[in-house]
Amino acid sequence: MLQQTLKKYWGYESFLPLQREAMQCVMENRDSVVVMPTGGGKSLCYQAPAMCREGLAVVVSPLIALMKDQVDALRVCGIPAAAVNSTMSADERRDVMRQIHAGTLRLLYVSPERLLAERTLDFLNEQRVSFFAIDEAHCISAWGHDFRPEYRDLRQLRERFPDTAIHAYTATAGQQVRDDLVQQLELRRPNVLVGDFHRPNLQYYVQRRERGLNQICSVLDRFRGQSGIIYCISRAEVEKTSALLTEMGYSALPYHAGMTDEDRTRNQDGFLTEHVDTIVATIAFGMGIDKSNVRYVIHAGMPKSLENYQQETGRAGRDGIEAECWLLHSARDVMSWNMIIADSADDARDAAEASLQHILDYCTSVECRHASLVTHFGQTWDRDSCDACDVCLGELEVVDDALVIGQKIISCVVRVKERFGADYVSMVLAGSQEQRIVSNRHDKLSTWGLLKDQRRTDVRQWIEQLVSQRFLQRDNEYRMLSLTDAGRQLLKGEVTPKLLSPAADASKQSPTSVLDSWEGVDRGLFEELRMLRRDMATERSVPAYIVFSDATLRDMARRRPTKPQKFLDVHGVGQQKASDFGERFVDQIVNYCRNQNVATDPAPESVHRRLASDPPSAGALQSFALFDEGLGVEQVAERLERAISTTYQYLESYIHQRRIADASHWVPQHEIDQIEVITQYAGVERLKPICEALHNRVSYDKIRIAVACLANRPSEQNFSE
Ligand code: ADP
Repeated sequence: MLQQTLKKYWGYESFLPLQREAMQCVMENRDSVVVMPTGGGKSLCYQAPAMCREGLAVVVSPLIALMKDQVDALRVCGIPAAAVNSTMSADERRDVMRQIHAGTLRLLYVSPERLLAERTLDFLNEQRVSFFAIDEAHCISAWGHDFRPEYRDLRQLRERFPDTAIHAYTATAGQQVRDDLVQQLELRRPNVLVGDFHRPNLQYYVQRRERGLNQICSVLDRFRGQSGIIYCISRAEVEKTSALLTEMGYSALPYHAGMTDEDRTRNQDGFLTEHVDTIVATIAFGMGIDKSNVRYVIHAGMPKSLENYQQETGRAGRDGIEAECWLLHSARDVMSWNMIIADSADDARDAAEASLQHILDYCTSVECRHASLVTHFGQTWDRDSCDACDVCLGELEVVDDALVIGQKIISCVVRVKERFGADYVSMVLAGSQEQRIVSNRHDKLSTWGLLKDQRRTDVRQWIEQLVSQRFLQRDNEYRMLSLTDAGRQLLKGEVTPKLLSPAADASKQSPTSVLDSWEGVDRGLFEELRMLRRDMATERSVPAYIVFSDATLRDMARRRPTKPQKFLDVHGVGQQKASDFGERFVDQIVNYCRNQNVATDPAPESVHRRLASDPPSAGALQSFALFDEGLGVEQVAERLERAISTTYQYLESYIHQRRIADASHWVPQHEIDQIEVITQYAGVERLKPICEALHNRVSYDKIRIAVACLANRPSEQNFSE
């Protein structure tokens, strides 16, 4: 029944991890605590059972924006849901009451304050409440990172509704918070389900901020027309960054708590309706933003904790499609946070300092980013490589003489008698003649100026890396550096640290992940469907992703269905959406494919990878004559008025038909040679590993062409034999 409901209303074929178990708890009236990372599909854990059970499901949610988003999304799927909140008129509220009385409403969203108002409790006591779902449940615990006192009072629910099950959902709860949740809500033998914190579709990159704006732009350039968030530490930086980006022609708007409500709402809506690509924000932005197709999150400054980082980056790629998370950090960020922390009360300061050290360790670490995050959140990591972070993708360049550099730094810490901090030590190593150093006679030390050929900022970073690798430690009070046992071993040359070269250029990156999940997708059609989605969302005053997610649009542009039944096969299309939107989307697909000569309803096996051995389409045939004349891809694309990506597909087909073995007309010879070598061990089934082995420097289209030609080589040369 649950599975049918999933298909009927949401158009999903299967459950995401732990969803079935979590839904089962709701079906069986057993209390539960469900911890799943952002994008894990928590909402469906209670929404689907709400449709299978009798009565009204009551969902507690902290923010009006969050409620509105969820209610809109449910209604578009044909599910009767409503919220009651202070922005509604008395009439609107009465209407909701009427629906509850009539038993037609299935989900009611409400804030804790409103739920616990005596009148609401009395009213609900007379209704048939199927269960309570508490969203963002970590807000109940003072141990969580977003404690909200009003959540505490939810403990009354148990007393007022002793027979009704309570289910708590959150993305961020360690053991302590989970225990607290159980206790505060007085849950009875709850089933505690903790999901996998590994988010394989997110690619993490960490860089030192060097020319911050350039680093940001190089990410933005690769994601033109797609949605992303840039987080800055301060409001002033938000304003500055957003203004500069706009001036440079990017589509960006600011968002921070210092703006008027009106401006904030306008900018947020612009982002949600996809009239603007990028939102530049402080952490004030995000809670309640369920936009599923955020393709990148850039932290222009270091966040204050890994918990914050996890939550903010969690907003990327909720639709399961690959997304990138960039963290740009500098020593200045640490100073900014230290200043902010200095004003807090003692115990809060200790916790904040510990959090800051964790994120700093993360920034300077050379361990797999996915592994670091997963283990920080208390889970084990048993994979060798994630293939989705700068460390595992080999993006980080390590310095060759790390042992010698490490020894120089550590001996300097010894020479200054372990009584100075990182800034001071780096200055001594750089040969500074600053007053303090001279008066301490540290300019006479043998280690003075030992690293003067290096940039001081690099030396400073290496010190951080030695701290994060536990060769050095700091005392809490004065931040003085001292040696650990490992540091002493390093000094003797028994162990070698890993030190990173200065930041690599983000512009070298290419969005491999994004390209890979474009396999089989007609990009031109995707763009047209995106515009249609935007129009339909605007007509209905809902965010674009509520109409269809990016994953759904890509699957549509891959399957190119022309009949209602086939339209229902598209991932993420349920019955209601098919009947509301099907006709217009199908019309668009039919028109596009007719005009562009693109095949419709391709056979299932070619949906994922169009095979070059397929009979060439009419459009491809037209291109053959032009390729015969020796025209290049761009010229053919221009003549036939086709997208470059489509023309490359034609070329692949042309190579296959004409059995061409030499790709040098389209791909430089040295790249062909490299690709040939790589295919010998990586195979030719998937292009992504080849692209990665080439450090993403060669485009997918070129790799595809080179591989197609290699396949036509005589068999003794043929890699596939
Ligand atoms: P969370 O609240 O845990 O952050 P959501 O409930 O917002 O996650 O779900 C994230 C995305 O995953 C949404 O776009 C949602 O529609 C989608 N989703 C949820 N369940 C499934 C499923 N079983 N199959 C495919 N997609 C799903």
